[in-house]
Amino acid sequence: MERMRELVDLLNKYAYQYYVLDEPTVSDVQYDALYNELLALEKESGTVLPDSPTKKIGGDPIKAFTPHVHINKLYSLDKCNSFEELRAWDAKLRQLKADIEYTVEYKLDGLTLCLTYEGGLLKCAATRGNGEVGEDVTAQVLTVKSIPTRIPYNGVVEVQGEGIMRLSAFNKYNETATEPLKNARNGVAGAIRNLDPKVTASRNLDVIFYNVNYLEDGYVPSQEENIKFLKDNRFKTETLFKSSDMEEVISYISKVDRQSLDFLIDGMVIKVNSVALREELGYTEKFPRWAMAYKFEAEETSTKLLDVEWNVGRTGKLTPLAILEAVELCGVTVKRATLNNYGDILRKKVKIGSNVFIRRSNDVIPEILGVAEDFEDSKQILPPTRCPSCGSELYEDGAHIFCPNEENCLPQIIGRLEHFCSKDCMDIRGISESTVTQIVNAFGVKEPTDLYKLTREQIGKLEGFKDKKTENFIASVEKSKSTSLPAFINALGIENVGKKAAKDLAERFRNIDALSVATKEELVTIDEVGDVMADCIVSYFARHKDRIEEFKSLGINPQMEEKQKSEGVFSGLKVVLTGTLSAFSRTVAAKEIEARGGEVTSSVTKLTDLVIVGEDAGSKKAKAEKLGIKTINEQEFLKLL
Ligand SMILES: [Zn+2]
Repeated sequence: MERMRELVDLLNKYAYQYYVLDEPTVSDVQYDALYNELLALEKESGTVLPDSPTKKIGGDPIKAFTPHVHINKLYSLDKCNSFEELRAWDAKLRQLKADIEYTVEYKLDGLTLCLTYEGGLLKCAATRGNGEVGEDVTAQVLTVKSIPTRIPYNGVVEVQGEGIMRLSAFNKYNETATEPLKNARNGVAGAIRNLDPKVTASRNLDVIFYNVNYLEDGYVPSQEENIKFLKDNRFKTETLFKSSDMEEVISYISKVDRQSLDFLIDGMVIKVNSVALREELGYTEKFPRWAMAYKFEAEETSTKLLDVEWNVGRTGKLTPLAILEAVELCGVTVKRATLNNYGDILRKKVKIGSNVFIRRSNDVIPEILGVAEDFEDSKQILPPTRCPSCGSELYEDGAHIFCPNEENCLPQIIGRLEHFCSKDCMDIRGISESTVTQIVNAFGVKEPTDLYKLTREQIGKLEGFKDKKTENFIASVEKSKSTSLPAFINALGIENVGKKAAKDLAERFRNIDALSVATKEELVTIDEVGDVMADCIVSYFARHKDRIEEFKSLGINPQMEEKQKSEGVFSGLKVVLTGTLSAFSRTVAAKEIEARGGEVTSSVTKLTDLVIVGEDAGSKKAKAEKLGIKTINEQEFLKLL
């Protein structure tokens, strides 16, 4: 029992550091080990402590929501849409009180929740409902990893927050969901008001708190203190801005970049900071006089889908582009939106002629979320069968459609060259899309390697290329030969391999020869490399041996500098990992070995010094024994660490 208490406290502390503070202090492996220990003890003893983190996986489905009466009424706020209205509100308040300090917070766009704690334990979670009576959603809210199940404050307290689905969680969910969510707001409402807590858990929700609605012994004197109380009691909060000057408040609001946030906000909330002053200002019939919600322009709207255009990218992938009936969104006229891929069209069930929801996204071009309304004459969107550019027969691979004509399909050639020359790749200056097109048309350049064979005379003949520009171009091409390995790998344009993956691959394989013979099994041991990416890499090098040789003959063969060697128990040893380890993934184990001076290699040879053998080890173990190389099991390995 004592150990259970200890484990619950420890796990809750780690969860707080991870989910609320975003400062993890233990690894997932360590957390999981303690969690499993607790789970076993709970099973053995048949008791589960009230604040046990094992409750967060979601209990059994419930039959219906029961009503919950809030201790204090939850008010809704007066709203405005312009800075003029904010100034008028400020002027009105100043007639009553000259000296006012305001606080400004995000107006989160999710589902309002009210949590009651008693004796330090979460007692109940409820929706806002009509402000006086909400629905009891305790089982659902309990699955939110960031909310505390135990808090330091011991009296009765009701705290108010907004249940949200982070956009990163929303996107991740929609990647694999059979029924994609139309937006993050629907995502959170549908998850909390779902009778099955396991569904809630699967959405990975979060709650951000902003108000202490009731406190048993006394009251919180200001909004600032509200946030401090919440923070002290381990609740997740957001930024709070303070100013006594409405112009400063307005300037702050106009600088808020909601595209940079990982959650939806639909405005900002301005409150009078002092609670004593709030009492003086009082309430109208509906709203408090001391708060105002400033609403942003909508980021979502709907319009008619007129047609779909298919564009060929540098890897041959066809991307559908929706042509829309022009509509205003955030002050911009929108005529096009992205549909990602054919699989996306099928999942979102959009048709030509239907009304669709569109949302402003981080990219220049907005995204289609789903169907708002279908009509009788709406037409199915059919996948193209021939490349719109070169006429080749297309093929499907998963959710995507490809043009196989790598060599002669113009948008692929141009896209490949542009990518190759771009800043994060070979960084060849002075090449714009139009220059690439000029070069392709004039000299029949098809592959990046062809760029290195262009002569001064040829370049000089291009329109707009005077001596200086020609020299710069030639020099920039020459200079690119001494690029770094991560940039070169990125420049190859292997499908699904971006800048970050290129860096990881470079760090692991150190040169292009080693990477080009890497097997899928070796590749997937890198954290960021999944099955799909590994397949793309292997297939790329199988198809392009000649191209790699050609790069080398042109003098392009970057290497990673030797890593600084760490010292430790594995210093100077070549170590091979085989089989499944229970306490680590192989990547983590490899890092632990490297941090102690060892070098981890993939195959057992005469040069191998040590083989660490996990469960179900196969041929490598046999080979090590045959060669007489020392092997140790996981226990012995852990001892060495
Ligand atoms: Zn084509």
